[in-house]
Amino acid sequence: MVKILANDGIDPKAQAKLEDLGYEVETTKVPQENLIEQLNTEEYQVLLVRSATKVNADVFESCKGLKLIGRAGVGLDNIDLDSAKSHNVKVFNTPSSSSIAVAELVMTNMFSLSRKVFQSNRKMPSEGSEHFSTLKKSFKGSELRGKTLGVIGFGRIGKALASYALGIGMNVLAHDRSLKGEQEILIPLMDQQIKLQVSISSFEEVLAKSDYISFHVPKQSNGSALIDKRHFSTMKKTVFLINTARGGVIEEFDLLDALDRGEIAGAALDVFENEPNPNEALLKHPKISVTPHIGAATTEAQARIGEEIIDNITAFFG
Ligand code: NAD
Repeated sequence: MVKILANDGIDPKAQAKLEDLGYEVETTKVPQENLIEQLNTEEYQVLLVRSATKVNADVFESCKGLKLIGRAGVGLDNIDLDSAKSHNVKVFNTPSSSSIAVAELVMTNMFSLSRKVFQSNRKMPSEGSEHFSTLKKSFKGSELRGKTLGVIGFGRIGKALASYALGIGMNVLAHDRSLKGEQEILIPLMDQQIKLQVSISSFEEVLAKSDYISFHVPKQSNGSALIDKRHFSTMKKTVFLINTARGGVIEEFDLLDALDRGEIAGAALDVFENEPNPNEALLKHPKISVTPHIGAATTEAQARIGEEIIDNITAFFG
C-alpha cells in the first residue's frame, strides 16, 4: 500500500477519496526536525506539503523511499527542486486552483483599506462605546470605483484579480516581465463573458499611476525585493500596497519606514519573510492590515486543490 504524509493538511474529501482508492493518508503534523526520521520509519512514498513544511536537500538525500512530492498551492520555493531532480523524485504543484481565492483576498483588502475597516475593527472593541463619535469622524474612507489598480505579475492570479477589479469599475494597469502588448481578460457577468483588453505597462508607470498596487510574482530566484526604499517616492502618497505573493517581495523594513514617514498610505500583507514568526512591527503597525498567509484558504480552493492532488497521485502510481 502506498503511504502518503499530508504534513500541512489536506481537504477531508480528497483524503477520503484517496483512502477509498487504497492509499493510506496520514495528516498528523510532523515537526520539521523529525521529518526525515518519520518519512523513513513510516516508509512514506508521497509527501504532500503547503508552504509550511520545508523539503530541503537533506530530505532528498536521506529519504530514499520518497517518490513523489505534492505542493498544495503554487509557489515551489519551499522545495529544493534541484535536489528533487538529482534524486529522481517527481514534484508537482496545483497551479490553477487558488487563483480565485487569492484574487478575492486582494479585493477584500482593497475594500478594507479604502474604508478603514481593519483599523475600525482594531479600535471598536476597546474604544467603541466611549469614543464612538470620534472614531466615526476618523474613519472617513474612499471609493474603489474609478480608482486605478496596478498589478505586478500578470499570470494566473494577476489576471483573475484584474477580472474582479474591472468588474467593479476600477482601471487596471499591469506589468509582467514576460508579457508584452494587450492581454485579454474575461469578466463573468451572469451567463455572459465580457472580454476586455489590458495592455502591459512598464514597472515605473504602474508604480507612478496606481492607487492600489498588488503583487503576484513568485519569490525571486535571487531572493531580492521588487520594492525597496528607492521606489516609494515614485508612487502616489495615497497609494496602498498589497502583498499576497511572498514575504520579502516588498522589503519589510523599508515598508515600515515608508509608512512611518508618510510616503505611502498603507499596506495589506498576507505573506511575511520570517513565517511562521513574522516581524511583530509589521503585525502591530496601525497602517498595515495583516492576515496569516490565507490567500488560498477557502473551502472551494482547497477542494479544487484536493482534486488536482488526486489526479497527480493516481496518474503517477497508475
Ligand atoms: P504565475 O506563474 O501564473 O504568474 C506569475 C507571473 O509573475 C508570471 O507571469 C511571471 O512572468 C511574472 N513575474 C515573475 N517575476 C517577475 C518580476 N520580477 N517582474 C514582473 N513580473 C514577474 O503565478 P500565479 O499563479 O499568478 O501565482 C503568483 C504567486 O502567488 C505564486 O508564485 C505564489 O508565490 C503566490 N501565491 C500566494 C498564495 C497565498 O496563499 N498568499 C496562494 C497562491 C499563490
